[in-house]
Amino acid sequence: MAGTASTPTLHSHLLIDGQLAIGEGLAEPILNPATGETLITIAEASIEQVEAAVFAAHKAFAGWSRTTPAQRAAALLAIADAVEANAEHLARLESLNCGKPLHLARQDDIPATADVFRFFAGAVRCQQGQLAGEYVPGHTSMVRRDPVGVVASIAPWNYPLMMAAWKIAPALAAGNTLVFKPSEHTPLSILALAPALAEILPAGVINIVSGGGEGVGSHLVSHPKVRMVSLTGDIVTGQKILQTAARTLKRTHLELGGKAPVIVCNDADLEAVVQGVRAYGYYNAGQDCTAACRIYAQAGIHDRLVSELGDAVSSLRFARKRDQDNEIGPLISSRQRDRVASFVERALGQPHIERVTGAAVHSGAGFYYQPTLLAGCKQGDEIVQREVFGPVVTVTRFDQLDQALDWANDSEYGLASSVWTQNLDKAFQLANRLQYGCTWINTHFTLASEMPHGGLKRSGYGKDLSSDSLQDYSVVRHIMARHGQDF
Ligand code: NAD
Repeated sequence: MAGTASTPTLHSHLLIDGQLAIGEGLAEPILNPATGETLITIAEASIEQVEAAVFAAHKAFAGWSRTTPAQRAAALLAIADAVEANAEHLARLESLNCGKPLHLARQDDIPATADVFRFFAGAVRCQQGQLAGEYVPGHTSMVRRDPVGVVASIAPWNYPLMMAAWKIAPALAAGNTLVFKPSEHTPLSILALAPALAEILPAGVINIVSGGGEGVGSHLVSHPKVRMVSLTGDIVTGQKILQTAARTLKRTHLELGGKAPVIVCNDADLEAVVQGVRAYGYYNAGQDCTAACRIYAQAGIHDRLVSELGDAVSSLRFARKRDQDNEIGPLISSRQRDRVASFVERALGQPHIERVTGAAVHSGAGFYYQPTLLAGCKQGDEIVQREVFGPVVTVTRFDQLDQALDWANDSEYGLASSVWTQNLDKAFQLANRLQYGCTWINTHFTLASEMPHGGLKRSGYGKDLSSDSLQDYSVVRHIMARHGQDF
């Protein structure tokens, strides 16, 4: 897979029924967002190839769904090993295709990807459930968890390989077969892994088709042989998928956007907050559904926070020549950069919003936007209510904790949140009342493969990671035998 140290081999083959295949659809350029240059042109899957992929997954289901958890675990462990064996190459591709600093792709994305496969290899061998027994006299009941069938998994562009692992590992572990579609912007790392997947798994168990959402994606979602659709993406995409999936009554699993509130109380450790938001509000250039982007700061700490955070954010390093010198990368596309810029422009058109730092497109090559901090924001402002998905954090002042809690919960999103205080009673009182899939206390952002990740409200439903995800990718069945009570 490797290529030379400076120019990794770029893979453009899809994986259909165990065979690597060149796409027969439209050819689309794949860009390096750090330079704006085209890396390679990849032909999407044609509709016939999407059909072939679904058919292959359907055919493979009979065999894969009857493997034992131990057999599936062995395959997942082999995939984790393949990720690690090709770590350097995959990290380079991730860095090229997303513009992410290479040292961060190496340090964060690759180990997290391998860990997810290893976690599900273990989790599928020790699932728990209700005891078998005689719940009706003369009848023995037991509960089974069986796979759903063919799953169409559709991924976003922000962490391509890690998102692929979140989708592929639980689906395979639970005994499903799948057709995986990466984002049309970032197919390189999963296509590079395709030959290893073809060696490890029986033909058709996993198929990879790249291409756009409206063509390849919506064809997958409408296919009658696909029994479940799993999407990580935008709310609007989730709504479209629900409409299409309704026609064939598919099971859906939706991980959608976020707009994480960060409640900072007067007694918070200011330095920890500043370092925390500098790191977790801007990681991956803010292209993260859990980004710490919506600060509510209590009046007693507000001014110091804005001042110190402004200095910290303006020191974030990006667009430097040496990889090690960069802390964040560019936005994924010029379109996404312009979208971020227009959010900030509209916000600064409001007289009460103050630019603390940033708020401009970077003048050099690539799709960079300056890390931005805006203060004086009000609850009803668009910039407080809508997901920007870029390096932009807002600060809103509050007096009473109830007010902060109401504002934090007054959102269409419900994915992630955090509370910063040195008073543990207060921390738990706030955390327990926040309507978010995850609440961190005195930290933000950190995930564990063992813990569920997923949203409430319009952030979607269904869990990624954790044993909860295995449940989402399986169906509960009741088997009852009548045998009487006497010989
Ligand atoms: P997107 O919704 O534009 O695209 C996501 C995927 O859906 C892509 O593969 C795309 O091709 C596909 N798609 C688009 N339209 C489709 C259609 N009609 N039918 C089938 N597939 C279709 O999202 P994006 O811009 O790639 O990613 C950013 C979004 O993802 C943000 O809103 C972000 O918050 C969200 N996200 C959520 C999580 C989470 O865990 N909740 C994680 C990462 C990203």
